[in-house]
Amino acid sequence: MVSAENGSVLAVERDGRWYQWAPPQEAPARGSWSALDVLAAGERIQADGMLQPARLLPPILPPRNVICLGKNYRAHAEEFATYAGEAEKLPEAPIVFTKPAAALCGAHDVVTVDRQVTSALDYEVELGVVIGAGGAHIAAEDAERHIAGYTIVNDVTARDLQRRHAQWFLGKSLYRATPTGPVIVSAGEFTDLAGRSIRSWVNDELRQDSKLGEMIFGVAETIAEISRIFPLEPGDLIAMGTPSGVGVGFDPPRYLNHGDRVVCEIDGIGRLDNLIHFA
Ligand code: MG
Repeated sequence: MVSAENGSVLAVERDGRWYQWAPPQEAPARGSWSALDVLAAGERIQADGMLQPARLLPPILPPRNVICLGKNYRAHAEEFATYAGEAEKLPEAPIVFTKPAAALCGAHDVVTVDRQVTSALDYEVELGVVIGAGGAHIAAEDAERHIAGYTIVNDVTARDLQRRHAQWFLGKSLYRATPTGPVIVSAGEFTDLAGRSIRSWVNDELRQDSKLGEMIFGVAETIAEISRIFPLEPGDLIAMGTPSGVGVGFDPPRYLNHGDRVVCEIDGIGRLDNLIHFA
């Protein structure tokens, strides 16, 4: 989804160029379409549909809270345990929490944060899984056909709020502070996850550098575990947890400052590139 001259439109990116998406002609008239329709119907680019997006919006707005995994990379679980003063322990089941969809912002948006609210802002590059077909009790072997595509989520976190409120929800929920995008790559185009790199930089300094294969709980396993408890819905977004190298993992911690630039990248999806603004 991009914001262009004629309002918000669904767009397809190819080789760095953006094109307006056209609904299938045989489709009945409908008020609105979503990225899920684009992924289901394929690339139907409008004639003369080239766009100059004014702003990239989050490529999908999930129907409810974003579902997030904590401590899903071994080295990150270890660095977080050190910070939290806990014994180092790898999770035996996925640690699942949520953040509201209102926390999401676009791939190039300025992330504006109230300096009265937090002084311990941190970055977390993560793989985002977009659910296509919903379902309950999805077996891990069947999980793949429930995935519409993949995106990048920077699970921006206020560590002081995360600690102060004990539950992680508020520290993860800063309004419009979780960059997501820049696109959703369809599941069929995004295979061989394990070898793909996942990285982040702060002001051009490489901070996180791992592979998707380093996740403790894989995507299929996670979908099975969550859908055992409640049905997943089309458009649900699951953020799969972050590798080591976040600000809180340093001693002393290296939190984000006003004017910092955070870049998050997953091989085959693209980049989030956001400036941090403390107001
Ligand atoms: Mg996270």
